[in-house]
Amino acid sequence: MGSSSSALNFGAGPAKLPKEVLSEVQSELLCYQNCGMSIMEMSHRGKEYDKINNDAQKTIRELLKVPDNYRVLFMQGGGLGGFAAIAMNLINRTGSADYAVTGTWSAAAAKEAAKYGTVNLVFPKADKPGAIPNESAWTRNPDASYLYYCDNETVDGVEFHTVPQTHPDVPLVADMSSSIMTKKVDVSKFGCIFGGAQKNIGPAGVVFVIIREDLLGKPMKICPAIMDFTNINKANSVHNTPATFSVYVMEKVLQWIKKMGGVEGMEKQSEEKSKLLYDAINNSDGFYTSPIDKEVQSRINIPFRIGRPNGNEELEKKFLDEAEKQYMYQLKGHRSVGGIRASLYNAVSLADVKSLVELMQRFKKENDK
Ligand SMILES: *Cc1c(COP(=O)(O)O)cnc(C)c1O
Repeated sequence: MGSSSSALNFGAGPAKLPKEVLSEVQSELLCYQNCGMSIMEMSHRGKEYDKINNDAQKTIRELLKVPDNYRVLFMQGGGLGGFAAIAMNLINRTGSADYAVTGTWSAAAAKEAAKYGTVNLVFPKADKPGAIPNESAWTRNPDASYLYYCDNETVDGVEFHTVPQTHPDVPLVADMSSSIMTKKVDVSKFGCIFGGAQKNIGPAGVVFVIIREDLLGKPMKICPAIMDFTNINKANSVHNTPATFSVYVMEKVLQWIKKMGGVEGMEKQSEEKSKLLYDAINNSDGFYTSPIDKEVQSRINIPFRIGRPNGNEELEKKFLDEAEKQYMYQLKGHRSVGGIRASLYNAVSLADVKSLVELMQRFKKENDK
């Protein structure tokens, strides 16, 4: 990658962070608030980290209007750690859970949960990725401990634009790793929302968990203490040493989101950015194509192919090379999908997307013969 500090980063995760946040982190790196040392070198039980931890929880509550009967927890283990933690903390109620598998990450979550209980797939695995079967066709188990889905499939580019219905006794659990804080969400519809911070709200190393209080207290006996939501809650997310630096940076990103108009501001920007890119795809006479059903196209992770009829690897490689010359990075599609993928997380600006669209238009002119 070039050394230009103006690189346009469309990476899927870890992803772009707001430059302002990084500058602030840089200015505090050697000496945090007159403490004479870095926040990285300070106790997780000291008053400085205590404030960061509490402020981060408070800001998440504010931004997402989290109701009082929910707790905000931080843990480690990444999204995948979350998959195991969800099952070990929640599947015990009835021993089984419903999973809607719409792509790579929900498939991995269902596979993980099957180690700890019975997993019912509410619809058969789609043979054609890029679609979500209509909810009326889902087979649900009324005795499920929870209904699980991935709000936005980061690899596949499939997003739920409405919250699935669930039986009143079956709490809804959502992986929002790649969509958190990109749109308004009614937290009261959920039993639990979780995800890795490294896509939209911070660096890698921290997992956020927003959980309804009454769901705490029923972990499986085998649940490791560091993944036990009840434990983590009791200890205010310092049961053991957290990834203090990651939480510190996340707290700054959350403040940045607040300053940028909160979740409403992020949502508006997300709609503008994704519309711009989809318009460029849709108005290309089939030179660019989206493999995803229109109703479930993601606003955040946008895979597309270049060249008729369904993508031409040579052209795609050429496009990636040209993109890099313009300092646009991490546009290569996931290794399991191919093609191009642009990830438009919160820190990616409308101007960044405009540059990408300009490149697409120029590239089409030069290569669509
Ligand atoms: C990135 C991602 C994951 C995996 O997170 P890790 O921290 O790499 O384990 C899970 N779910 C979704 C939706 C993701 O985007």
